[in-house]
Amino acid sequence: MKPKVRAVLIWSAIGCLALIVIINFIFNHAATSSASPTNIDTLKGDTNKEQQNKLHNRKTPVPITVTEQGNVALPLGKLIDNIPTKDNKTVYLTFDDGPGVYTKEIDSILHQNGVHGSFFWIEDQITNDLGHFGHQMIQQGNVIGSHTMHHDALGKENAEQQQQDLATSADLIGKKIGEKIVYMRPPYGSVNKYTKQVAKGIGEYIVFWQVDSLDWSLAHNPEKILSNIEHDGVKPGSIILMHERKQTVKMLPKVIQYLRSKGYNMVALPASPIPKEEIRS
Ligand SMILES: [Zn+2]
Repeated sequence: MKPKVRAVLIWSAIGCLALIVIINFIFNHAATSSASPTNIDTLKGDTNKEQQNKLHNRKTPVPITVTEQGNVALPLGKLIDNIPTKDNKTVYLTFDDGPGVYTKEIDSILHQNGVHGSFFWIEDQITNDLGHFGHQMIQQGNVIGSHTMHHDALGKENAEQQQQDLATSADLIGKKIGEKIVYMRPPYGSVNKYTKQVAKGIGEYIVFWQVDSLDWSLAHNPEKILSNIEHDGVKPGSIILMHERKQTVKMLPKVIQYLRSKGYNMVALPASPIPKEEIRS
């Protein structure tokens, strides 16, 4: 091969590689910065870097109290990321973005392992079948909360829009699963001052998280779900964020095994919390 031809071939190959790298970068970037709120396949989980830093930099945890009668008192209008119990051995598995094709598998894994979880469901995904299934899940000791009507970022909305979304989703989800909704988790962790006011007004506790598995981003690297949980430092009372995804189903037994090995019980959020404000008065 003539040196000139060889040079052309080499440079073409380098050009192609560069193009692939650039296209990859653009696609990945576009995927993390935009998300269609209505299509489950394009949902990008509930965390972003900014949110993550905010959570990790927070120095004063939201105080939670257990009354003498044993009722768990939670603050309304605050972002709850940890609910300690007296034995210091409890953590909370939470699953966002359902219900869908993985709901029954996740429920079955929890059941087989004798643990419970809390699910945050998007109203427009709850079919009759899944609504009935949700009712059974609750009767078996799990908890279902609201993840809004259509997975919209509440932090971008005004008070009226959020009032409409949160009140309607609590009402409709409650009707579909036959249980009162007392918890909500804001999609993308996106909140503003109105979110707290509106949620407090309708008596809904806002559930955040202390440990982020980043499972939604790990379809091609499920093992990292477990290492994320390990490295995020699970503490007594930690609320752990996961999603109803294929990779989560795959890793859930190992996550449960790991948490057990650290001495933790996995329970659902308190079924009937009482407002902390009422305890003080
Ligand atoms: Zn979500």
